[in-house]
Amino acid sequence: MNQATINNKIFEIFIRDKEISDIVNQISSQINKSDIKDPLFISILNGSFLFTADIFRKITIPNSEITFVKLSSYNGTETTGKVNTIIGLEHDLSNRNVIILEDIIDTGITLEKVIQILKEKNVAEIKIATLLFKPEAYQKSIPIDFIGKEIPNDFVIGYGLDYNEYGRNLPHIYKLKNKEKC
Ligand code: 5GP
Ligand code: MG
Repeated sequence: MNQATINNKIFEIFIRDKEISDIVNQISSQINKSDIKDPLFISILNGSFLFTADIFRKITIPNSEITFVKLSSYNGTETTGKVNTIIGLEHDLSNRNVIILEDIIDTGITLEKVIQILKEKNVAEIKIATLLFKPEAYQKSIPIDFIGKEIPNDFVIGYGLDYNEYGRNLPHIYKLKNKEKC
């Protein structure tokens, strides 16, 4: 299927499943060759679930662990601003070496929040792996250790990534046709 239509928006094929699997092999082998010891992988749900499953089964580092978190924003009772928090992080993270698994890094705002929260939990080392990265949209200076593929500032879906919660089951990655805004 070269096109996918979701909520009347047309998406065209962008990264085929074969290329995704080559990217996954490349990232997992870079992680395996890195010097990180006893890593705890932290997968940021929902978008990263397929990427995480494919990466993690290729990890050969001894004592690798995995956990899954979600970011949630809520309105604090004492402040009017939105506060982002991580739900699902029950591990004792002190002195742990963690590898964040992200589906896509766009502005980097999510990543910065996650890192801030992890640092408060006294982790030892943080590495970041992302399937996709949009350099033109990135606003932060945090270095990203493992990047699958740099992509233009287009909206993409498939392989875990959604448009209004649909499209996560598509085996390929698609991009919005004609650069419409989602
Ligand atoms: P950031 O905080 O870096 O701007 O965005 C990170 C999150 O926004 C990603 O984890 C993802 O959930 C969502 N996101 C950013 N760009 C895209 C995109 O092109 N497609 C989809 N489906 N989600 C995106
Ligand atoms: Mg994400």
